[in-house]
Amino acid sequence: MSSMTSSPFRVVVAGGGIAGLEALLALRELGGDRISLTLVSPGDRFRLRPLSVAEPFALGHAQEISYERIAADLDVTHVAAAVEAVDDASGELRTDDRRTLEFDALLLTPGATMVASEQRALTWMPEGAKELFGGLLQDLDEGYVHRIAFVVPPGPTWPLPAYELALMTAREAETMGIEAEITVVTAEAAPLAMLGLEAPDALRGALAAAGVTLVTGTTVQVEQQPHLHLAPDGDGEVIAADRVVFMPALRGPEIEGVPRDDHGFILRSPHGLVEGARRTWAAGDGVASPLKLGGLATHQATGAAREIVRAAGVEPPEEDDELELDAVLMTGTAPVALDDKPLGDASAAPSWWPARKVASRYLEAYLERTRA
Ligand SMILES: Cc1cc2nc3c(=O)[nH]c(=O)nc-3n(C[C@H](O)[C@H](O)[C@H](O)COP(=O)(O)OP(=O)(O)OC[C@H]3O[C@@H](n4cnc5c(N)ncnc54)[C@H](O)[C@@H]3O)c2cc1C
Repeated sequence: MSSMTSSPFRVVVAGGGIAGLEALLALRELGGDRISLTLVSPGDRFRLRPLSVAEPFALGHAQEISYERIAADLDVTHVAAAVEAVDDASGELRTDDRRTLEFDALLLTPGATMVASEQRALTWMPEGAKELFGGLLQDLDEGYVHRIAFVVPPGPTWPLPAYELALMTAREAETMGIEAEITVVTAEAAPLAMLGLEAPDALRGALAAAGVTLVTGTTVQVEQQPHLHLAPDGDGEVIAADRVVFMPALRGPEIEGVPRDDHGFILRSPHGLVEGARRTWAAGDGVASPLKLGGLATHQATGAAREIVRAAGVEPPEEDDELELDAVLMTGTAPVALDDKPLGDASAAPSWWPARKVASRYLEAYLERTRA
C-alpha cells in the first residue's frame, strides 16, 4: 500500500459519454484524492443521447453538460482528443493529435460508431434526428405519408429508440387526427427481449394500445419496385410503407493495441479488464456484448471504477452490484417502465426523464444537480 505522500494514481478515462461520466463520478467518489483524473474525449460536452428521441416531437431535448463544468466539479483534466492507440505494458496512450499520455489505469469508454444499415431507407441517428425526422413528421402532418415502418436490424444496434419513435409517431398522428399505419419490424425474437421477461409484456401492451403493428423475429430487405416496401427474408408478408426508418448498425471503436472482435468491439473479461491487459479496462457500448444499453454501460463503468480504485490501494465500500436492466420508454403520453418499479407521478412532461431514463448509480443524481 502506498504512503500518504506518494503521488496520485493516474487514471485516464477515454470517452466522455454515459459510461465515461458515470466512471468519473464513481472514481472521484471512491478514490478521493488518492487518484488524479484525466478525461480524453473529443468535443466539448457530454450529451444525454437517449433524450434526442423526443426532440423531433418537441417533447424534450438531450441534456448537455460541458466538459469544462465536469472538469471543475470533479477535478478532472479534459484533453479534447480521441485515443488512437494504447500500450498497456508501458502504460501509455497516443491521441489523434499526437499527444502521448501516461497512465496507471486506463478505462476505455469510447462507445460505438454508427453506420447506415440500409442505403435505400433513412437511418435514424441521434445527432441530426431533429432535422431528418422532423421532415418525416411534417410529411405525415401534411398527409404525404401514412405508412411508416421502423426497422431494428440484426446485429449490434440500439433497439429501444425504434419503439419510442414508433409510439411517439403514432401519438403524433392521433393528436393531429391523421390516419397512420405504424409498424415496427424487428430481428429480435420479442421486443427488447434481452432486457428480461417484463420488458416485452409492458412494451407489447403499449404498442397494442397505440395501434402500432409489431413484427418480430424478422429481417427485411428494402425494395423500391414497383413501390417502396419491405420484403422479409424467408417467408412472411410484404410490408408496404411510404417511409422506412432503420436503426443504425453499430461498430466498435477499433483502437490500436486493443483486442477486438469482428465488428471492432473491445474484448474484455467479466470484471472489465481488457483481454490480455493489466491496467486497461473497458465499459459501455464499445465493448463486445449483444446488449447496447445505457444502464449496462453505467453498470460496467462503476464495476471498472471499483477495480481501478482497488488498484490504487483504496478498498471501496461493499456494494450490491447486481445488474438491473431497467429503462423507461417515452411514448408521447404516459411513459412505460420496463421493470416493475413504479414511476411515481411520472407524466408526459419531460422534467423527470433524465432521472430514470438511464439506470445508474451516480449519473442520475449528477444530471439532476446540473439541471438545477
Ligand atoms: C436515441 C437513443 C436512445 C437510447 N435510449 C436509451 C434509454 O432509454 N436507456 C438506456 O439505458 N439506453 C439508451 N440508449 C443507449 C445508450 O445511449 C448507450 O448505451 C450509451 O450511450 C452507451 O454509453 P457509452 O458511454 O458506452 O457511449 P457513448 O454515450 O456513445 O459515449 C462515447 C463517448 O466516447 C467518445 N469517444 C469516441 N471515440 C473515442 C476515442 N477513440 N477516444 C476518446 N473518446 C472517444 C465519444 O465522443 C463519446 O463522448 C439509447 C441510445 C440512443 C442512440
